[in-house]
Amino acid sequence: MLTVIYLGTGAAVPSPGRDNTSLALDDGEEITLVDASGAPTKRLAEAGLDARRLRRVIMTHEHLDHTYGFPSLFQSLWLSGRREPLAVYAQPETWRFLDRLVDAYRPGGWTAGLPVERHTIVPGSAPVVETPRLTVWADRTQHPVPTVGLRIETVGGSIIAYSADTSPSRAVQELAQRADLLIHEATFLAGQEDDALRYGHATARQAGEVATQAGVERLAVLHFTPRGPTDLGELRAGAASVFAGGIDVPSDQDRIEFP
Ligand SMILES: [Zn+2]
Ligand SMILES: [Zn+2]
Repeated sequence: MLTVIYLGTGAAVPSPGRDNTSLALDDGEEITLVDASGAPTKRLAEAGLDARRLRRVIMTHEHLDHTYGFPSLFQSLWLSGRREPLAVYAQPETWRFLDRLVDAYRPGGWTAGLPVERHTIVPGSAPVVETPRLTVWADRTQHPVPTVGLRIETVGGSIIAYSADTSPSRAVQELAQRADLLIHEATFLAGQEDDALRYGHATARQAGEVATQAGVERLAVLHFTPRGPTDLGELRAGAASVFAGGIDVPSDQDRIEFP
């Protein structure tokens, strides 16, 4: 069993009810957080998830809208009495950034606070996380800084893929092969495909193309900032113009369950 909770669905500019993008994966025993924006402990609490079950954090890349809640997560867990280590997974470039970020608040270093289990993500074919319930793979996406997308397989055989921030990417397409759900960013609106490529992002139509090429069942588009009341319909229509499967345009705190 795996529940995907959309803790945030917005792009770098938050809007009412739509904060920066991050995900929680609840396998029934442990919670995996993907990126740490906003106040992660508040979001977990609002989702009804007990932060004591938070076992690991996977950081996809260093950009502010995915990392600024990271020091806050450690501080709030420490203050609420947690002493068990938290596992953190990131690429070496992302680790260098996270170390600087934490150092700004805690010059004494990591050992002065909550124990951290450091894991280095090596993008490629070997799983980065393996538990009795989940296996997670990571590979590099098309973004201006080193960024990983994810493929998550449950013991029940479900497959969920997450693009993180990216332009249309062959690696994401591979990660999403025959997935039950592809969660793909859609920062730009239809007609802005050139801008999307220039800035390392995608439109909903491009997300739909990746979903079709990967043969996925269902597509969820997120990481966007609505500019007007018609934007959500436009996003859905953009994806639907090239993808025949189910399409979700989730809001913050929406969730979807898999065996
Ligand atoms: Zn980014
Ligand atoms: Zn972003």
